[in-house]
Amino acid sequence: MKTILPGGTIGIIGGGQLGRMMALAAREAGFRIAVLDPTKNSPCGQVADIEITAPYNDEAALEQLAEVSDVITFEFENIDYEGLKRLAEKANVPQGAELVRITQNRMAEKAEIRASGAPVAPYIEAPTYKDFVDRVETIGFPCIVKTAFGGYDGKGQVKVDSIDQVEEARPLFEHSQCIAEAFVPFEKEISVIIQRNAAGETFTLPVAENIHVNHILHESIVPARIEQSVHEEARKAAHQIADHLQLVGTLAVEMFVLDDGAIVINELAPRPHNSGHYSIEACNVSQFGQHVRAVCGWPLREPKLWAPSIMVNVLGQHVAPLEQVIGDYPDWSIHLYGKAEAKHDRKMGHVTIMTDSIDETLEQIKQSNIWN
Ligand code: AMP
Repeated sequence: MKTILPGGTIGIIGGGQLGRMMALAAREAGFRIAVLDPTKNSPCGQVADIEITAPYNDEAALEQLAEVSDVITFEFENIDYEGLKRLAEKANVPQGAELVRITQNRMAEKAEIRASGAPVAPYIEAPTYKDFVDRVETIGFPCIVKTAFGGYDGKGQVKVDSIDQVEEARPLFEHSQCIAEAFVPFEKEISVIIQRNAAGETFTLPVAENIHVNHILHESIVPARIEQSVHEEARKAAHQIADHLQLVGTLAVEMFVLDDGAIVINELAPRPHNSGHYSIEACNVSQFGQHVRAVCGWPLREPKLWAPSIMVNVLGQHVAPLEQVIGDYPDWSIHLYGKAEAKHDRKMGHVTIMTDSIDETLEQIKQSNIWN
């Protein structure tokens, strides 16, 4: 694979916060950045050298991106697969398009996770509502029906508690084919970010413990407060999946931990992940820096955690209260993404706090009254 050196241009499809943080990491090393996003002055556009303003799937715009870039990556998975595949045939897209195809479709994703040997919850494929009703007994109740295409942050999901409630899932089938999986009575949600270069060098970041509020990630605590053996199992599962998929770039693996310490893989994202933002301050290599190394064909660095950390998301409703008390917390690293409008539940930024005591810092976060 071609090694891309500083001075070269990295093209990023998608101009959100993940693209922005990728761009900032790449800029430190001296790369130039081109970004394709439908909106001008996007979070990534603000820190890029070249902004191409067009829909993500605009073929002419993708070609323009390819012309100005030495390597192309992406910050989100909902890109048109066929378009990305065509782009990968003529431009340098080291991640390829296959992982995007798989992670866009929960059916394909589940099948690949299972094929890798990593554990998944029992599930059924349900292309139609009738298939769901006919097959649901094989997984039993409660179960969760999820659209195969297009869901995020808990949208496109319905929990069905008994046979009398199957009707509640019917509207999902108007949007997409679905899968249904057994409800997992998990104790914790964790994630492992795994990164691999084309030479096969592979590293995971420390396991994050994720706390969601209203289906949106609220806090990541690192290292996850789980047994050492569970840390090892989680990393092992991530390696199995990355090897099976011949990953190049970044894969976030979301998992459930049961009360007996068993893990179940929930879903994958083929990009840097909200639960890995802590690595910007807390590790010797951030998920963004490592991603840049991977797609530029550089050797990867073995991640080390400097200190336990908590990352808290700043949504639209948290910006004003955060601004009021910012001066009280010099130890907090504040990241705001440059989004114009602080809409409710919109991810506007995050805060990372490195600490000697996770418990004391959780209490400090509570006392700040920003997230209450
Ligand atoms: P997902 O979009 O698949 O990440 O699901 C969003 C959230 O729904 C997860 O973070 C879990 O809290 C919950 N969830 C999803 N699948 C299951 C399951 N099989 N059992 C229990 N909870 C689930």
